[in-house]
Amino acid sequence: MTRQFFVGGNFKLNPSTLAASSSLIGGLNSAELDPATEVVIAPPSIYLLSAKESVRSDIKIAAQNCYFKESGAFTGEISPKQLVDAKIPYVILGHSERRTLFHEDSALVATKTRAAIDAGLKVILCIGETLEQREAGETGKVCQAQLKAVVDVTKEADWSKIVVAYEPVWAIGTGKVATSAQAQEAHADVRTYLAEAVSPAVANNIQILYGGSVTASNCKELARQQDVDGFLVGGASLKPEFADIINARK
Ligand code: PEP
Repeated sequence: MTRQFFVGGNFKLNPSTLAASSSLIGGLNSAELDPATEVVIAPPSIYLLSAKESVRSDIKIAAQNCYFKESGAFTGEISPKQLVDAKIPYVILGHSERRTLFHEDSALVATKTRAAIDAGLKVILCIGETLEQREAGETGKVCQAQLKAVVDVTKEADWSKIVVAYEPVWAIGTGKVATSAQAQEAHADVRTYLAEAVSPAVANNIQILYGGSVTASNCKELARQQDVDGFLVGGASLKPEFADIINARK
């Protein structure tokens, strides 16, 4: 099975004006992008609809988060149903900034993942260890525990709706990228775990992205790794070099 190369751009809380958001999307619209790469961008929620209207048709839109309820008294939240209704096909869940700054634990991320899939969204599910955990030799254990929470509530769900993003916390926004060997090892471990916990077919078919300080200069080497099926890109997705990352396998 050949897994399609996938590159996501997580804009986080950027840019800070609608005009700047439109100009970022304008840049992508005129870039030469490898048609073999699936490209998804995740603007802040206030710009989701304008981004969807203005972006080229071969780039899909993702929300950066959603809640698990359909509607109700949940101030500040967006629901999976609302995203589907707005024709936003993807949502990022479990990003380390959500886990750390907004105290989302793996059980909540799992509940959201199940709700998003059930509503018809595709999920970019982020997992990854802190530096302390890596230095303690706990990378595999931490990633498995984060995945297990999801497996426990989605075992029977359609796993073709999930893309896993392995994002070591120590590499996110730090300029400290994982080596290609570190990324390959973590991705292979994820696949081995999913083969046992879900099924060999799911493990073989699922796209596993690497995220953490990916740039135009380090993406090609990472993209050569057997189990690296693409990237989730933060900072560099706001720059023209995002096109080079999308074209990493070209
Ligand atoms: C991210 O936020 O998902 C990310 C990988 O950020 P950066 O590329 O800036 O490290």
